[in-house]
Amino acid sequence: MAAGKSWATRSAAAFMALAASAGCAGGTTGDSGPQAGSGRTSPAASAPSARPPGPAGALPRPGEVGRIPVPSDGLPPVISSIPTERKVVFLTIDDGWEQDPGFLAQVRDRRISIAAFVTRDAVEARGATDPTAQGGRFLGAGKWGYIRDLRGAGATIENHTLTHPNLPALGYERQKAEICGTSKLIRRHTGSAPTLFRPPFGNHNTLTRKAAKACGIDALLLWTATVQPGGKIAYQVPDKKLRPGDVLLLHFRPGLSRDFRILVNKIKRRGFEIGNLDAYLKAATR
Ligand SMILES: [Zn+2]
Repeated sequence: MAAGKSWATRSAAAFMALAASAGCAGGTTGDSGPQAGSGRTSPAASAPSARPPGPAGALPRPGEVGRIPVPSDGLPPVISSIPTERKVVFLTIDDGWEQDPGFLAQVRDRRISIAAFVTRDAVEARGATDPTAQGGRFLGAGKWGYIRDLRGAGATIENHTLTHPNLPALGYERQKAEICGTSKLIRRHTGSAPTLFRPPFGNHNTLTRKAAKACGIDALLLWTATVQPGGKIAYQVPDKKLRPGDVLLLHFRPGLSRDFRILVNKIKRRGFEIGNLDAYLKAATR
């Protein structure tokens, strides 16, 4: 199946693309803030050594992961959680406004597996900011350089549109422009095209899935719980506890570094591991 194959081959392809794009990615201007330069090595400048030693996060055991059904309409599936009984959860983070160097350092140094769903306007700090990010110290601080550094730290960079619209209010062509435009930008700035898409607010229709497919997306990824300031988890299920296979949604917001530390410690205290989303999705869709 197309989706499985694509996930399987992404790492190698991404690595080659990153190496190939080293020249142009390092040459952009106005693109890296103070903390982006903290690593003497930008991923683009030192492609072979910048590659993480191996995938971060728990990997699926043989036979562990249930199957996510392939939609009969041939369009990308919409996934909210991973079918497993192992105590493993998956971390995702959205938008890209507050580019906190402390968060980047934790992802890198503790080797925490996380998928970042980025919006162009947030990463580039264009226009009105997310009201919840107002007052942040690092709004748009490193722009795409920060996202490149996150990728160099082992995160995967995925698609969350250019302008964060409510997609079902748009026609096909405008939805496609939002999704394809973002994939192109991510590829240009990180060397690797996204395979996952998260619609803003979780809102999508059939045109969204059609457009996503046309832009090379394998699946739409939603979530089962959101992480609030202070690392508090807000569940979308009645029994208010972490479940195996949960997908947690964070945002790039002020206080992220502290909140992220609290969250990761909480997950571990509850006996859960943080899983490698790519590997689990591949196992669930093969
Ligand atoms: Zn968002």
